[in-house]
Order: sequence, then C-alpha cells, then structure tokens
Amino acid sequence: MSASETDPAAASASPEQVRLDVRRWLAESWDANLSLVEWRRRLVAAGWAVPSWDRRWHGRGLPAWADEIVAAELRAVGAVGLPMGVGPALAAPTILTHGPDSVRERFLRPILTGEETWCQLFSEPGAGSDLAGLSTRAELDGDHWVVNGQKVWNTSAHYADFGLLLARTNWDVPKHRGLTYFVLPMHQQGVEARPLRQMNLHASFNEVFMTDAEIPIGNVIDDVGSGWSVALTTLAFERRFGAMARPRFAASAGRAIDEARTEADHYFETYKWYPQRAGRADLLVDHARSAGLDDDPNVRQELARTLSLQRVGEWTAERARAARALGRAPGAEGSIGKLALSNVARAAARTHSLIGGASGLLSGPQAPFGGMVAEVLVSVPAQSIAGGTDEIQRNIIGEKVLGLPRDR
Ligand SMILES: Cc1cc2nc3c(=O)[nH]c(=O)nc-3n(C[C@H](O)[C@H](O)[C@H](O)COP(=O)(O)OP(=O)(O)OC[C@H]3O[C@@H](n4cnc5c(N)ncnc54)[C@H](O)[C@@H]3O)c2cc1C
Repeated sequence: MSASETDPAAASASPEQVRLDVRRWLAESWDANLSLVEWRRRLVAAGWAVPSWDRRWHGRGLPAWADEIVAAELRAVGAVGLPMGVGPALAAPTILTHGPDSVRERFLRPILTGEETWCQLFSEPGAGSDLAGLSTRAELDGDHWVVNGQKVWNTSAHYADFGLLLARTNWDVPKHRGLTYFVLPMHQQGVEARPLRQMNLHASFNEVFMTDAEIPIGNVIDDVGSGWSVALTTLAFERRFGAMARPRFAASAGRAIDEARTEADHYFETYKWYPQRAGRADLLVDHARSAGLDDDPNVRQELARTLSLQRVGEWTAERARAARALGRAPGAEGSIGKLALSNVARAAARTHSLIGGASGLLSGPQAPFGGMVAEVLVSVPAQSIAGGTDEIQRNIIGEKVLGLPRDR
C-alpha cells in the first residue's frame, strides 16, 4: 500500500460517523493536564492527528475531508491539535509522498508531535526562481554525505532541528537531473545560520552556510538524483501554505494548553509581520473612518475595489480547500490563489497610502495604528516573492491552465 492510499473500510465512512467517533474518543482521551508532547503522542497514536493518512503512518486511512472535521472537533472541546510550520506543512507531506519508509519511520512522528522543527533550504544567492541551477554540493564519503555551499532567505533556520535541503550530487547531467533532496541535521558544527535583518526591521530569515556539514547516508528523500521532482512536491504544498491563523487557547486551563500557547508565541515571533505582508485589508475601513475619509468618493471606490478583490481571493482559497478535502493533489489553484493574495496585498497597501497620505510613512506608537501602515508598506513586497514570485506563478498558470508554450 502506498503512503497515500486510503483503507477501503475507512474510505466508506460517513462524515457523521467520523464526527461521532472522534467526539467519543476526545471525551475519553483529551486531558489538558498532560504535557503537550504527551497529549500529542496520544493523539498521533490514535490516528486522529492526521486521519487522512494511511494507518501505517499515524493516520486512520480516512478520506481527505476527515482532517477538517477532526480539527473542528478538537477546537470545539478546546483540545490542542497539530503544531504549525514547515514541519507539518511541507516536510511531512513531502516525506509521506516520496519516502522511503526508513525516512517516514524516523521523521513523521516527531513532526506531528512538535518535538522536532524544520526549515526549508532551497534558495541560494544565485538560484531562486531558477532553483534547479543551484550549486550547493553534496558528496558521498563512506556512510555519510558531505555538504558545502550557501543557502539564503531560510525562514526559522536559526532554531530549526532539521532542514529540507536541495543539493547537487551530479554535475555531469542536465541541471534538473543532478539534484538530491536531503534531510540536514541543523545542530552541527558545519552548519551556521546567520539572521538577516529585513527592511521592515524584523529578522525572520537567515543565510545558512554549510562547510563540510554531514548528513547520514539514509537521510535522502526518494532517490539520489530525483531531488527535482521531490522539490516540486514541496513547492506545490508551499503555495497552499499562505494564511496562518493563530490558534485560540482557553485561558490557563492546563499544562498542555499552556505549553501550546508558549509554542505558538515562539512560532509567531518569526511570522508576526505576515499579516502586514498580506496588506491588512481588514484595517482599511477603520483607517478611512479614523482619517475622516469614509465619505470621500475616491477612497470609497478604492475600498470597494480592494475588499472585492479580497473576497474573490477568499473564494479562490475556498476552492483550493474544497479540492484538498476531495483528496486532489495540489494543482494550479495554488498559483492562482497565491497571485490573488499578492494582488490584494498590493491593492490594500495602495489604499492605505491613499487614506493616510504622508502619515502612512510614520512609525512608532504615536503614528496611525501604531505604525502599522508603515510596516504594511515595507512588508507587502515580500508577498509577491516568497514561495515563488508572481511572474513564476504566471508562468505556471500559462503552461498548466492555458496550455501556452513552456517558459525558456
Ligand atoms: C518572506 C520570504 C520567505 C522566504 N522563505 C524561504 C525559505 O524558508 N526557504 C528558502 O529556500 N527560500 C525562501 N525564500 C526565498 C524565495 O523562495 C525566493 O526569494 C524566490 O524564489 C525568488 O528568488 P530570488 O529572490 O532569487 O529572485 P530571482 O529568481 O532572482 O528573481 C528576480 C526577478 O526576476 C523575475 N524572474 C525570474 N525568473 C523569471 C522567469 N523565468 N520568468 C519571468 N520572470 C522571472 C522574478 O519574478 C523576480 O521579479 C523566502 C522569500 C521571502 C520573501
């Protein structure tokens, strides 16, 4: 059975049955006084952490829609669910899809329990959109690989335990065929992560230098030389990994919840500017009111345009969620959704500027919205770059949806 096949008996389960089963299990098993790891281990052992995964890999072999139902039931009783970040969002589906089993056995469970955290080591100073042109090299030396090279823009690499590393292992074949996808242990002498300060003054990503860094021979995802197709899987999941909502926790109600809150605080420290990166369209109407411009026809026109774009973007995201619930592999809807988010972010930044004028450039506590507008203006450009630029998304849509000739 492949990692993603569903179990025939489980596949015929109805949503009502799944809801009842998980409710019954939660009534017996949710205990806020456990440690966070103890609780998540219990959740994972019962298969309710990722019910759509195969039973062999910590799931229950249920259809894809079961994940949302179970997450909603967990929220309803105030129980803690999966951790956030690159581990569950990118590493887990990539490892699940491509294996091998030894890598699935070693890494999937601690991703789901949050015991190990991950970062993505793809981009290089000379390889971003043209990722396949990367030059970090890995060479086999006895029972381990030796890696030398530099990565850049690596979110959370300064604390992650493992990195999803794309490196060149063969220089004698066309560039896409000479890549291998590794799991790099980050806490070792040969790996140095140096934080980069951004123009919005946050420092959420890093440059990572690898100097004779070592990787155990078995830490290869899929096969040596097949790294490009594995990377495409990660990138497809990354386009889905846009909006992140901070989970709501009950006021101090037990150890597992307190630890989950601390975990979320730590995680969102890195991502706290991401709402500004998305343009803060939610603040536009308040901004117009507080500036006394909510009856200005030009402002109203732009508000309507931006908020309509936002609503359409939400419907696109809804469509992507529905495709996911049906168990479809990520497709071009990820690129369309990502472009929609960029358009909303830019339109929102323009509208904030129209409303605030020069005051939008002020930072500090006395500025409008505590300097939030200024932070929006210097954060929005990242929306069109992270996870593949707008131009690259347009190329994907041109080729996959419109059937245009391939980009050269
Ligand atoms: C917030 C944020 C978080 C990030 N996190 C990570 C991370 O965790 N790990 C990681 O590895 N990377 C990360 N990145 C890096 C990101 O993936 C790259 O910045 C991105 O892929 C673009 O690469 P580049 O910066 O080298 O730009 P380039 O590829 O050099 O692009 C420069 C310009 O040329 C255009 N262009 C390039 N090729 C084409 C083409 N074929 N057709 C049309 N136009 C083209 C681009 O659209 C862009 O406008 C992050 C970036 C941001 C902004």
